[in-house]
Amino acid sequence: MTNKQHIIDRFLRYVKIDTQSDPKSTTTPSTEKQWDLANLLVEELKQIGLADVIIDENAYIMATLPSTVGHQVPVIGFVSHFDTTPDFSGTHVNPQIIENYDGKDIILNKEKDIILSPEYFDDLEQYKGQTLITTDGNTLLGADDKAGITEIITAMEYLVNNPDIPHGKIRICFTPDEEIGRGAHKFDVDKFGAEWAYTMDGSQIGELEYENFNAAGAVVRVQGKSVHPGYAKDKMINSIYIAQDFINSLPRLETPEHTEERQGFFHLSSIKGDVEETVLEYIIRDHDKKHFEARKQVMIDLVEEICKQYERDCVQIEIKDQYFNMKEKVQPVMHIVELAKNAMEAVHVEPIIKAIRGGTDGAQLSYKGLPCPNIFAGGHNFHGKYEYVPVESMQKASEVIVKLVELTAKKYE
Ligand SMILES: [Zn+2]
Repeated sequence: MTNKQHIIDRFLRYVKIDTQSDPKSTTTPSTEKQWDLANLLVEELKQIGLADVIIDENAYIMATLPSTVGHQVPVIGFVSHFDTTPDFSGTHVNPQIIENYDGKDIILNKEKDIILSPEYFDDLEQYKGQTLITTDGNTLLGADDKAGITEIITAMEYLVNNPDIPHGKIRICFTPDEEIGRGAHKFDVDKFGAEWAYTMDGSQIGELEYENFNAAGAVVRVQGKSVHPGYAKDKMINSIYIAQDFINSLPRLETPEHTEERQGFFHLSSIKGDVEETVLEYIIRDHDKKHFEARKQVMIDLVEEICKQYERDCVQIEIKDQYFNMKEKVQPVMHIVELAKNAMEAVHVEPIIKAIRGGTDGAQLSYKGLPCPNIFAGGHNFHGKYEYVPVESMQKASEVIVKLVELTAKKYE
């Protein structure tokens, strides 16, 4: 359907522009350089002939592909983000193209001896014979999520050039700052005006996701009493030991390193302390809303119990919800997942439906009134130097978008 070289050229154009976001910044976008790609995307959307191409003061880009049918079809949207993670450099991305991949080790960087090996990254094996785009070992690639942007624009271009394909009105949006958790923050859902949407931000070909964690952060502050150790008998209270009691009272196996699939956890991410004060930082994750609430309650009860035990208010806890499982918002409209699944099958992609052990912008958007499952963008090993994407997966993702809008129009005939 889509010209392979065309999709490669487009993707390379985007990843060569540095768009790393910055969690310490308070502006939107969080970094000035995100405008560089944003402005280019606006020009390209106009060039391929989309309508209402708009970029707002926060660099959110929206555009419309008008309907090609006479009957009423719900407006649907596609969303991806143009920033890359602050965790790894995105400066001077120098992509390598491996044609007809032979299934063996790929030398990313000879000098530094950086090798992308199927022995360690066994997903590589399924791409034998395909065209892979990798890094040169010095930066990330930025397939997360410039692959998604490439796929959406390529699909829109194809639909513009093939007006005989029936579809309703399509809206697209590209956001800044997804990687620092703010992609949905200034997303104007009313202005977008879609009934539902899809983020093109998943990993391997076939992924289709509509469940993610419920998430909260907890800060536990333990107060001690510092006294000269030589005169401390019956006077000193060492906050570190109390903190230790707290840590040991939570189930040791309900942690990220011992859980998978739909199992939740408590994750102690930081501990800083001395005799006088110890501060513990936790994140709490669970797909199940009831279990999630129960986990928070366990921590609150534990604080109370320890205070009782030491006969003083020596422990305080502050819990903040971070995001919620989109399943609650998607389940009432399961046909939107069904349509995506059917679209994949129609273009011979086997759907892999699983629960995300994290969050997505789509989760936040779902709670803002725009149900938004996540579809694969095709990349692997996000956020680091081993990131790669098979071009064939990007082509397939583009085809899924085209098929999805077609099936939606047919469903409402
Ligand atoms: Zn992403």
